Amino acid sequence: MYVIGLTGGIGSGKTTVARMLAQMGAALLSADRVGHEVYQPGRPAWQEVVDAFGRQVVAANGSIDRRKLGVIVFSDPEQLRRLNAITHPRMKDLMREKLEAERARGARVAVLEAALLFDAGWDDLADEVWVTVAPPEVAARRTAERSGISGEEAMSRIRAQMTNEERIARSQVAIDTDCPLEQTRRQVSGEWERLVERLPAQQGETPPARSGV
Ligand code: ATP
Repeated sequence: MYVIGLTGGIGSGKTTVARMLAQMGAALLSADRVGHEVYQPGRPAWQEVVDAFGRQVVAANGSIDRRKLGVIVFSDPEQLRRLNAITHPRMKDLMREKLEAERARGARVAVLEAALLFDAGWDDLADEVWVTVAPPEVAARRTAERSGISGEEAMSRIRAQMTNEERIARSQVAIDTDCPLEQTRRQVSGEWERLVERLPAQQGETPPARSGV
């Protein structure tokens, strides 16, 4: 099974492109979903998070209250690092399990969508990386329109992230999303067709060489 790592800044169009790839036939795995799962009671990260941050972060239904946790970590980089040190390795393990399950089901291509693909060191789970790219002002406007935060707040979150140039330098394919959706879809289907042509006919054969950056 060939794995595409799909990353990009907030509001850059990752989820939109991931859905397009799913329509073209890829199995879709999202870091957000895995993030929710590791916080469920009974999951290893649950106990570690409660030990580190206290019972105050446990919701009435027993799961971790991500909003309460957010209040603690987003104003304090040290606490955020502490939380990431617990959750990122757990999420990576779970992502590995899910990839294995897709492989066992016979999926030919899987897409691993993760905003933090590079930051969390998950790019080594992927055979190649695609990045969605929109200029910061466009990504900030889209984020503000969708989430209700102000344009300035969105821009300051974007500035706190890796830049588009840094992500592009570490990716094999860049998808421009500063255009009408149909134009993005054409880029995605062109890249998809090129990828499928390069894939070995039989599973278990050597995957195509990375095209380099
Ligand atoms: P986040 O990380 O904040 O969840 P994201 O990177 O997953 O964001 P999306 O949710 O896919 O981004 O897209 C942000 C918005 O941009 C969506 O409302 C989407 O419809 C819009 N959009 C407009 N034009 C395009 C385009 N050409 N390609 C992708 N998205 C576009």
